Amino acid sequence: MSSFDVVVIGSGPGGYVAAIRCAQLGMKTAIIEKYSTLGGTCLNVGCIPSKAMLASSHHYEELQHFADHGIEVSGDVKVNLEKMVARKQAVVDQTSGGVKYLMDKNNITVYNGVGSFENATTVNVTKADGSVEKVEAKNVIIATGSKPSSLPFIKIDKERIITSTEALKLPKVPEHLVIIGGGVIGLELGQVYLRLGAKVSVVEFMDRIIPGMDGGLSKELTKVLKKQGMKFYTSHKVQAVDRAGEGVVVKAENAKGEIITLEGDYALVSVGRRPYTDGLNADKAGVKVTERGQIEVNDHLQTTASNIYAIGDVVRGAMLAHKAEEEGVMVAEFLAGQKPHIDYNLIPGVVYTWPEVAAVGKTEEQLKEAGVAYKSGSFPFKALGRARASADIEGFVKILADAKTDEVLGIHMIGARAADLIAEAVTAMEFRASAEDISRMSHAHPTFAEAIKEAALAATENRALHV
Ligand code: FAD
Repeated sequence: MSSFDVVVIGSGPGGYVAAIRCAQLGMKTAIIEKYSTLGGTCLNVGCIPSKAMLASSHHYEELQHFADHGIEVSGDVKVNLEKMVARKQAVVDQTSGGVKYLMDKNNITVYNGVGSFENATTVNVTKADGSVEKVEAKNVIIATGSKPSSLPFIKIDKERIITSTEALKLPKVPEHLVIIGGGVIGLELGQVYLRLGAKVSVVEFMDRIIPGMDGGLSKELTKVLKKQGMKFYTSHKVQAVDRAGEGVVVKAENAKGEIITLEGDYALVSVGRRPYTDGLNADKAGVKVTERGQIEVNDHLQTTASNIYAIGDVVRGAMLAHKAEEEGVMVAEFLAGQKPHIDYNLIPGVVYTWPEVAAVGKTEEQLKEAGVAYKSGSFPFKALGRARASADIEGFVKILADAKTDEVLGIHMIGARAADLIAEAVTAMEFRASAEDISRMSHAHPTFAEAIKEAALAATENRALHV
């Protein structure tokens, strides 16, 4: 039986990054993955393929505005969805191959099969042919991720009633895509098909889309997506999602108790994801799984078994790839005797629609609820030269700072390249910048990033320069 200092179960961004960091720190490391490709949800059916489809559909959408830029396109412009999906798959394959390269480069042993505990130090790997290999581990890192969740009365048939996984490889552009759940995944995939010509309706139980983010962002994104043609049914509780021939019928109840009926050719169920521990036999190792299906961990991400740790989507906190990665590094460094730390308040959240939405720190709702006195400064992208030059004028940056100390407490933005701009916000907050600090930093002109400086100026004595 081979034995290792660390065995990682699951090769998503949490697991493979944990394995690399363990190997860098001199630990003999193995990783177990049940699928034939490495990279987990993120690389195979999540972050990367969704961004590939968003990029392709964005190019198509931009074509509609070429005439405004003095570019005349003659002849038919058509979408070849099959080719678009094949390109996405090529991106995925290349990226997953990159993870395999990193495993080899770092001398990490890769086991292909389902990992399940025999006890706290022995993991069985069940391979595709049914054979079982035993692996001995001083420490184990569980990084088994998550799967799409559903509602009890919805039967996902993966043909017409689908999850994000199927939505990334549809055979044709839907005529009417009904999306259950107005969160990040539903809106990103909704925008892909909206751009490609589908009618898209979003049914959301809460009174606004992206309910976890700052209300201002939600309002602006709703406005922009409505303008682009997306239909919203907020404060609607889905009652039934049924197949009807080659289509679907979705019934939802509004706040007045009225039932609306939406007929579409696909229903995308994007109501969240559930932690995944099926087949792991966590109990045999003394690892406690909570009622919500998450692996219980302490502040060091240690489970109820002292040599077993858990990270990423399978534990509490935001279900995000970069959060999983940070946790992977943290556990590896903890095992090496270091004292790593993660500030969960500074894990940014991003929606990759266009305009993009990004945020870090506290929302206005959270500050109000906590009774924190704060001030707010906003700056609209339309007042930026760079935004006008690119015709990307929608959105704003909002900075929330402590009313007394001026320390930045939250930065919320919607607009072009917000997904990249948020890194400046995280850096500033990591170093506990005040709004005035940001306002006095030189920002290259003309850039979208100037909106951050201007919002910081607005937050400190209302002295934005360009409004
Ligand atoms: P996962 O990536 O889920 O990986 C877990 C791995 O463990 C899987 O490969 C699984 O097969 C394997 N596994 C499970 N059980 C076993 C077992 N018993 N034995 C062996 N292997 C096992 N996040 C972002 O930050 N940015 C985005 O833009 C983004 N976009 C997304 C878009 C979509 C459509 C979806 C679905 C998700 C998106 N996410 C995004 C979320 C992101 O994918 C997850 O947060 C991230 O993948 C979690 O990483 P993880 O390592 O915890 O688990």
